[in-house]
Amino acid sequence: MNTTPSSKTDTGTPLNAHTACPSCGGRSAQIIANQDGKTGETLITVSCSDCGLGRIDPLPTDQELAEWYATQYRQAYKSAVQPALRHVLRAGRNAQLRWQWLRQNSVGLEPAHNTHPRRSLDIGSSSGEFVYLMHTLGFQAKGIEPHAGYATYARNMLGIDVNNVTLQQGLASEAAWSLDLISMFHVLEHLPDPVSALRTMGEKLKPEGLLYIEVPNALRLCSPHYMFFRAHTLYFTGETLRNLLEIAGFKIVAHNADASDNLSVVAQFVKAQNTSAARDDSHPLVSAQQARRWVPYLLQQLRDGQPLRKWRVRQEEKRNAAQYADGLSLLNDLYAQKSA
Ligand SMILES: [Zn+2]
Repeated sequence: MNTTPSSKTDTGTPLNAHTACPSCGGRSAQIIANQDGKTGETLITVSCSDCGLGRIDPLPTDQELAEWYATQYRQAYKSAVQPALRHVLRAGRNAQLRWQWLRQNSVGLEPAHNTHPRRSLDIGSSSGEFVYLMHTLGFQAKGIEPHAGYATYARNMLGIDVNNVTLQQGLASEAAWSLDLISMFHVLEHLPDPVSALRTMGEKLKPEGLLYIEVPNALRLCSPHYMFFRAHTLYFTGETLRNLLEIAGFKIVAHNADASDNLSVVAQFVKAQNTSAARDDSHPLVSAQQARRWVPYLLQQLRDGQPLRKWRVRQEEKRNAAQYADGLSLLNDLYAQKSA
C-alpha cells in the first residue's frame, strides 16, 4: 500500500513542515490530509507534533492570502449582496444564541455602564445580524467586513456601522483600551498569523473587556470530504484553541464542551504570555481524519434523522421568513420577540 509516490503524503506521515507552527513555533508535524476538499488540488494540511494545532503547510502570508481571496472571489467580493431572508433568519437566531451563551458565561457586560454605552466590535460581521443585535441591546456596536457587498448591505439595510476593511485596517483605527467586547465568529481559522492578530485585539480591549471567539471544531463528525480547503489556514480542537489564546496573552474566562460542533471561548487580555502552555503530541486531528469514513458517517446521519431534520428546519425557515418584506423588519420582529 505504501509503495506509490503519493503515499508520502498519506494521513499520519511525519514531515518537517515548510513553515513553523504559528502557535508554538514547532516544525515537526504529521500529515492530516493532502488534498483541497473543494478543488481536489494538492494541499498539505498538518498537525503540529508539539502542540497539536492543525494548519496548512506552507502557511500563506497575509499578502498571499489576500491575493488568493481576491482572485477566487473577484466577482463575489465586488458585487452587491442581498442575502435570502431565510439566511437572515438563521443568522439572526444564531446571533441570539451566541449572545445568550456569552451572557451566561461571563459577567459585567450590561449594555450601559455608568451611562456610557458599552462598545463592541464584530470582526468579519458578514451581513451584520450580530452587530444589529448588539445595537438593538444598547451597545455602541461596530462591525468590520472585508466583503464589500455584505458591508454595504449591512449599512444600507440595517443602518449599522460596518466598515469594508481588513482585520488589520479595522483594528488599527480603534483606540487602545477602548472596547468592551470583540467578537469573531468563524474568522480565526482563516488567519495565517493568529498570535499577532490576537495580541492586537487584546490591546484594543479595556482591562475588563472580553474577546469572544467561535471556530469550527476540527474533531467534529463530518464526511470524509469537504473538510480541508485553502481558505482555512488553521484547524482547532478545544485544547489548541485555548492554548493559542494563552500564548497570545489571554486568560480563558469560559469555554463550551470540547465535543461541540463549534468551539466557543471567552477570554480576557492579561498580556502575560503563557509560554508553558499545554503540549499535545498525540495528534488527535490525524486520528479523527483516519476515522472519517463514508459508511459510518452516513449511518450516523440516518440514525440521528439528520437529512429529515435539516429539511424540516429549512421548510420552517422558508415559511417564517416569507412573512417579511426585508431583513430589517425580520430582525426587528425576531429580536423583539426574544427580549419581550
Ligand atoms: Zn505547535
